[in-house]
Amino acid sequence: MQLDDRAETLLRLTPRQHSALSKLGIVTVRDLLFHFPARYEEIGGLKQISELREGEKATVIAEVVGLKAEKTWKKKLRIAEGVVRDETGLLNVVWFNQPYMANILKPKTRVRLSGRVSRKKTLLVMANPLFEPLLAGEPVAINELLPIYPETYGLTSRWFRYQIQRLLQTAGPIREIIPAEILEKYHLPSRERALRAIHSPKTRGEAEASRKRFAFEEIFLIQLNRQRERKKLEEEHGRSVETNAELIKRFVSSLPFALTDAQRKAVWQILQDFKKPHPMARLLEGDVGSGKTVVAAATALNAVSASYQVAYMAPTEILARQHFEEFIKRLSPFKIRIGLLTGSEARKFPSKVNPKSHTHISKNQLLKWCLNGDIQILIGTHALIEEKVKFKKLAFAIVDEQHRFGVRQRAGATKGTRPHFLSMSATPIPRTLALTMYGDLDLTVLDEMPPGREPVETRVIPPREREKTYQFIREEVKRGGQAFVICPKIEEKKKDGADLAASPYPLSPASQAKLEWSEVKSVKAEYKKLSEEIFPDLRVGMVHGKLKPKEKEMVMKKFKNHELDILVSTSVVEVGVDVPNASIMVIEGGERFGLAQLHQFRGRVGRGSRKSYCFVFTTNQDHANNRRLKALQEVKTGFELAEYDLQFRGPGELSGRKQWGISDVGMEALKNIKMVEAARAEAQSLIADDFELKKYPLLKERIEKSDTAVHFE
Ligand code: ADP
Ligand code: MG
Repeated sequence: MQLDDRAETLLRLTPRQHSALSKLGIVTVRDLLFHFPARYEEIGGLKQISELREGEKATVIAEVVGLKAEKTWKKKLRIAEGVVRDETGLLNVVWFNQPYMANILKPKTRVRLSGRVSRKKTLLVMANPLFEPLLAGEPVAINELLPIYPETYGLTSRWFRYQIQRLLQTAGPIREIIPAEILEKYHLPSRERALRAIHSPKTRGEAEASRKRFAFEEIFLIQLNRQRERKKLEEEHGRSVETNAELIKRFVSSLPFALTDAQRKAVWQILQDFKKPHPMARLLEGDVGSGKTVVAAATALNAVSASYQVAYMAPTEILARQHFEEFIKRLSPFKIRIGLLTGSEARKFPSKVNPKSHTHISKNQLLKWCLNGDIQILIGTHALIEEKVKFKKLAFAIVDEQHRFGVRQRAGATKGTRPHFLSMSATPIPRTLALTMYGDLDLTVLDEMPPGREPVETRVIPPREREKTYQFIREEVKRGGQAFVICPKIEEKKKDGADLAASPYPLSPASQAKLEWSEVKSVKAEYKKLSEEIFPDLRVGMVHGKLKPKEKEMVMKKFKNHELDILVSTSVVEVGVDVPNASIMVIEGGERFGLAQLHQFRGRVGRGSRKSYCFVFTTNQDHANNRRLKALQEVKTGFELAEYDLQFRGPGELSGRKQWGISDVGMEALKNIKMVEAARAEAQSLIADDFELKKYPLLKERIEKSDTAVHFE
């Protein structure tokens, strides 16, 4: 058996299991072996029934005598209650609130039961034990730590345990990929040992050491890739762009405001990079509203004045148009020719007829002007990186919220030279994640907000305060304000929910959340509720992903022009849209979102002169959740909140996982700045010595594979 063998050839899979595995992205034996437990349950040692003592945690292997579903007389609880036995005696078992257990465990089923033993009168009882029917021939020897795999699409934890143990028995040696010196230096177990231990640890310590090893491995591999990219870039040719200090001064004094120190520093850093013979690769990070667009405009102007072209890519059409308009506003004193190219249209500024305004043109015309250098700055969406978009002398490519594009790509690479590259992001991410995912970029942070912005007053609203809050919103609207209402994305109601409900295990917080997920109101339902019941007297609109770009834009425009009072939208719609008059942000299902994400929503208000509010509605009264959300009331910067997210949310729940293509184990590593820095330092020194990784062919093979495996949202 090879690790690259397809898992399906070795396992007998039902069609359902087959599709479940492929949904998890598990194709090969390796994928399956590297599907790690989410946690471990302490199940107590294996005992015979006659040995059980009150108060202890234990595991028994028993046969079901009989179970029945009932309603308790006093509390009207639905329970399943019955008796199991082994050769040494009888044991009572009871499951509260899970009456269906009576259907699952038929008489004569052999099961493994784990739980705490209690006494009811003279009888010993196990209440709500973890249970697993035993497969024929399944070995009964167990560790006291039972690995629990993420419950997904109906593949049980037991199934994973059983199959992985089988595969581990027949798998050949698992070859090491990390250089031995590194393992030694950080006291990491070998790959083989860690892999076996992570699936059946004897102690918590062993489990942790294994997880740590794989966490290090994952971060190390990503770092190797990034450091290689960085090194490659340093060897490429860029276009050296001289600084036009006089022009930049004129630009700055033409602005209706003074730049913040952070903005000045950012502009200066970029202009320094421009002068170098190899292309810049820089990330400009700053909270929503910190003023990244002006930095882009100033530096773009400098590149244009050196007779080069600039490309500026935004994640959505609405944002591209917004940037186009802002660039026109900021750069019109300098007579710059600007184009807009999106999936649905092309525009050019200035128009021949009216030099103060832009005009619609054909895409072909725009492409021609771009190729002959007539268009100096081209702004747009994805459309910018299509094959047919060609520049005469592109020197500077700017990408807004890069991770929202399908792939990690450098815009506008042309043969021979590569443009200077600036990635801008308002997505607050923890430092460890930035170091890892953007390990190939230099970092500039706009850590200062333009003056005069009052912080947005934030409140977490439990259900009982909803009415009062609606009242407040109505009053604010009457005073001339406007409100956004964000609803969480709805997942389709798959059978999934039902499966989880029937799960024999106490639900993990993650699956609990999944169950409620499907109950959350959709944008449409929310729109209906608000427009018909709560605010029939106000003007309510909605946008969501299913609308056509034109329709979306129309609604947004109406909201911007204050023809709507309240705009209901999904979380994914148009993060950076600027509506200065909006003073209230309402977020439904606050528990669904990471703090950093909530903070981004909050950043959409408080952009004008109105005192602004953010109301986070929550239905989950869970203490930990409330404590988490409370951080939003106290902590003000997105980056601090991102760190909170990392520490507070269980790794399985981190929204980052999907977004960044990092596994749960890798996410754990991100809580550990020392580990991330170590992985980075080791990767850097390895690449500096041996770019081709000639000494480590296995490592090279792995990173080349892992790079394609990393996918972005
Ligand atoms: P970001 O893209 O970083 O979220 P924007 O570039 O959209 O932020 O800027 C938000 C708003 O702040 C814009 O209306 C912009 O004109 C304004 N702005 C930018 N810099 C300053 C500044 N230094 N002082 C005052 N207002 C500013
Ligand atoms: Mg922006």
